[in-house]
Amino acid sequence: MTSHIAFFNFPAFGHLNPTLGVVAELVRRGHRVTCTTTDHFAPAIEAVGAEAVRYTSVFGQYYTNPFTQEAISGEALRTLEEATSLVSQVEDFYQENRPDVILHDFMAWGARFLAAKLDIPVVRLFPSYGVNEHFSIQAKFPMAELSDPNVMEMVTKLEGMLPELGFPGRTAMEFLMEPPRLGLIFLPRDFHYDGDTFDERFVFVGPSLGDRSAFQGSWQPASQDRPVLLVSLGTAATGWPEFFGAAVEAFADSRWDVVMAVGDSVDPAELGVLPGNFDVRRSVPQLDVLGRAELFVTHGGMNSVMESLYHGVPMVVVPQMSEQHANGLRVEELGLGRLLTRDDFGVESLTKAVDEVAADRAVADRTRATGEAMRKVDGPAVAADAVEDYLARASAK
Ligand code: UDP
Repeated sequence: MTSHIAFFNFPAFGHLNPTLGVVAELVRRGHRVTCTTTDHFAPAIEAVGAEAVRYTSVFGQYYTNPFTQEAISGEALRTLEEATSLVSQVEDFYQENRPDVILHDFMAWGARFLAAKLDIPVVRLFPSYGVNEHFSIQAKFPMAELSDPNVMEMVTKLEGMLPELGFPGRTAMEFLMEPPRLGLIFLPRDFHYDGDTFDERFVFVGPSLGDRSAFQGSWQPASQDRPVLLVSLGTAATGWPEFFGAAVEAFADSRWDVVMAVGDSVDPAELGVLPGNFDVRRSVPQLDVLGRAELFVTHGGMNSVMESLYHGVPMVVVPQMSEQHANGLRVEELGLGRLLTRDDFGVESLTKAVDEVAADRAVADRTRATGEAMRKVDGPAVAADAVEDYLARASAK
């Protein structure tokens, strides 16, 4: 039996990308898949065969860009605004096109509001760490203090709204930290902090990488014989020109072919005349580059970390915020690369970290083995099976 499955995502590639393989798999199995999205991300959704249900996001084109502590705490309030605004824009569509289940990013709270109103079962998507009674990344590595005025304002507002949104008797924190009936976590259990505390309500899907060539194009290496070094700060918080400048200085005319994605906030022209061994772009088809790379200097966004491991590529992680720091620590703890903090970051420390990781046989072996294990799991199929099983159980009630 086929169903209407609605995805409610968050307007950021870091949230959207891991879900694309699952969308493609569900479409392939004959389901009708609709996805709420902004114009900016619609091409990625349409490329995998889903219907884009467009809305205008309070975040504009991007969630969190540039990245400052002030911006982060402000995001709490904007995330609530995003939720209420999203519901008001897509409710009519979903009243007329009632989904059998809603799959929603853990930050797309609007999906929970709408699902409660229309009495539709939900599945929660965790592009990064999951949340249960024992673990939350916010508790282990706090991103914004709960005493922050922006966070407190959001908590007060949300708490006031919850009774009429279908969540009577819940505090804001209970609503936010409530474990899902079914949660899909796009990591392998082994990588997850406290992974063994997650019971059968959670499915570890691992990285769920789909073909992105239809909206990203493809990439070929400049040469076949030189090692490729990928350098990127991801998509969300790329406005750190000194980082890219240091990478140019560190690896100019080195043994590496350097592929550097600088994002939308840094003009490649600001970096001066680029050495011949550099290929600098705003954005690269990252999966293609990782398929050839020997090492990745990354900000440590969870997708970048997973994609790197999937391709067996060791990392030097230069984090910009608490969760990326947590990811870098985990990479280092598992012997898959090195953490280089922003405070310690410089031309010399970067060169040293890259040289040392590149020369470390044990790191290379562990990373290769991790990639092999990941590639044995068909993430999109695991996720689609879990969703179909959940639907069958929900309709049997
Ligand atoms: N990405 C890409 N090309 C780029 C930079 C990033 O395709 O030039 C993709 C990358 O493959 C990943 C996502 O964008 O899927 C970034 O997510 P991540 O969690 O690593 O970091 P964020 O951008 O959310 O900080």
